[in-house]
Amino acid sequence: MKVLVAVKRVVDYNVKIRVKADQTGVDLSNVKMSMNPFDEIAVEEALRMKEAGTADEVIAVSIGVQQCQETIRTALAMGADRGILVKTDAVLEPLHVAKILKAVVDEEQPGLVILGKQAIDDDCNQTGQMLAALLGWPQGTFASEIEFADGKANVTREVDGGLQTLKLNLPMIVTTDLRLNEPRYASLPNIMKAKKKPIDEKTPEALGVDMAPHLTTLNVAEPPKRQAGVIVENVAELVHKLRNEAGVI
Ligand code: AMP
Repeated sequence: MKVLVAVKRVVDYNVKIRVKADQTGVDLSNVKMSMNPFDEIAVEEALRMKEAGTADEVIAVSIGVQQCQETIRTALAMGADRGILVKTDAVLEPLHVAKILKAVVDEEQPGLVILGKQAIDDDCNQTGQMLAALLGWPQGTFASEIEFADGKANVTREVDGGLQTLKLNLPMIVTTDLRLNEPRYASLPNIMKAKKKPIDEKTPEALGVDMAPHLTTLNVAEPPKRQAGVIVENVAELVHKLRNEAGVI
């Protein structure tokens, strides 16, 4: 079975985000970019499937600017077999990405597509669900465990207050939650090997996807600054402040 993994290039999770002075978006100049952390988990899961003999090819797909190639190279260095870059400078919305992924799925015919449950830049949590709807495939979102048996998959999902296990027919869509696995680091020899692995380039136009925007961002603002804390001398003072200043008791 072929496994397609969607890997998004996002601002590294360690970077302190700066909002542009004109409040139209986030300042991306000289900012470290990395693979979306949930997508690293998606790549890891696909590689474990390959090692277990459930998958025979792992393909990493990224959509966006030319530099998304670096994100694909990271997936290749982790162990993916080949990459597909769908190159565009357009502002991407989840529906665009889902339509592009659908076109790639139609060409590649994978048995499974794994995505992150959300991208840490836009926090949309929509792409996997939209892709499942466009394809008419079953979906196991927020997966914390995937088991394959008899041509079906049991996907355990992290839901409020517990775990839910679904039996899904293949082909299917999975989106990853944090506890699914711990992604591996790429070794130096594998980073070198990844340089020779193929990355196919496509465009949304060639895949027949209209990139017209459906959304307009009106404003991006930083959260309000937190007030400094106060150290109280004793419990009596704390109770006094909670009652008379905060008004919470
Ligand atoms: P979102 O719906 O934007 O929160 O993204 C959910 C998941 O969709 C991500 O974790 C990725 O797996 C995938 N995805 C979103 N945008 C892209 C992109 N531009 N390229 C590749 N994968 C993407």
